[in-house]
Amino acid sequence: MTDGADQSAAADLLKWFASHTRDIPWRSETDSYRIWVCEVMAQQTRIQTVRDRLPGFLTTYPTLESLANADRDELLRAWEGLGYYARARNLHRAARQIVESSGTRLPSEVAELRLLPGIGRYTAGAVASIAFGRPEPAVDGNARRVLSRLFDIERPTMAILEDRARELIAGADTGLDGDRPSRAGLLNQALMDLGGAVCTPRSPGCDTCPIESHCLAFERGTVAERPPRKPRKPIPHHDIAVAMIRLNGRLFIQRRPEEGLLGGLWEFPGGKVEPGESPEQAVIREVVEETGMHIRLVGALDLVDHAYSHFRITLHAFHAEIETPSTVIELCDESQTVGSKRWILPEELDAYAFPTANRKLLAGLVSGAGAASPEV
Ligand code: SF4
Repeated sequence: MTDGADQSAAADLLKWFASHTRDIPWRSETDSYRIWVCEVMAQQTRIQTVRDRLPGFLTTYPTLESLANADRDELLRAWEGLGYYARARNLHRAARQIVESSGTRLPSEVAELRLLPGIGRYTAGAVASIAFGRPEPAVDGNARRVLSRLFDIERPTMAILEDRARELIAGADTGLDGDRPSRAGLLNQALMDLGGAVCTPRSPGCDTCPIESHCLAFERGTVAERPPRKPRKPIPHHDIAVAMIRLNGRLFIQRRPEEGLLGGLWEFPGGKVEPGESPEQAVIREVVEETGMHIRLVGALDLVDHAYSHFRITLHAFHAEIETPSTVIELCDESQTVGSKRWILPEELDAYAFPTANRKLLAGLVSGAGAASPEV
């Protein structure tokens, strides 16, 4: 496209966006902290879930300082059910990093934003453009599709896409007086919304598209090939066996390592069922490996299926008692705490952040589902 064509395409896109802005609550936000939280929460989470959860989160943590001072367990509990818990941990770390360096608000430049934990090129571009009016691209999956088609890009690397987005931003900013904020924030959001509502993956609505007259893929008949589809990998499935170990009216829980999947959340001990192993054998082995405690199984709960983004699990949960008292981890004393392992009362379960699959187990426990559920 020529500079004039970029300008014209950007103008048509912005005109469309002005009358088709999606009704997303955080679109009206102007505070950089809130825009950042919204952007992070909206990644890999359905919009409706974000709509439901965002107000509560921002009420609990209304400012950068409040997030920096958050208790980590309470923060993870506030994030429970949103998945990808690394996002919550990184929000916390980044807020602390800013506050500890005497900052009171997020930096406005992409290069500085990218130094903060959990802020990649998309989030940095989104915060810089939307919150601070910087002329920066923010290319998510929807924008990637629109840009690939609009410019008919056969191999759309992120560098190429961002260059094309910059050209559109320059077109949108043509004629702006130098002191005015860039229109990049609007343009980035317009690209995302167009990709979500019109330029959809399988049946794009080219006949109603505001930039059809600029679209090279439409002109050349390559829309269906842009962007190239990534081959789908089969989603692996794992059987996981866990034990709900009871002693003196308490349940045993442990915290997952800080880094990695579901890091920092609490769980019942257990692990993957290895080939040739039954879930019963697996859970007894895993509990010894993880805790040193020897248990016997006294009942089973209903199976729980759960899908993560890259794999699925079936959770086999068992009620268990201590088989060999000498192996019991120090318990039920005043602190109830040995490192990242605790014996807690059933009514205390709500105070801990658990992965959704564990929460499903607990729901079954509370509703009385599952066989041979002994009293605690
Ligand atoms: Fe997408 Fe069609 Fe619009 Fe091109 S004309 S941007 S392919 S909807």
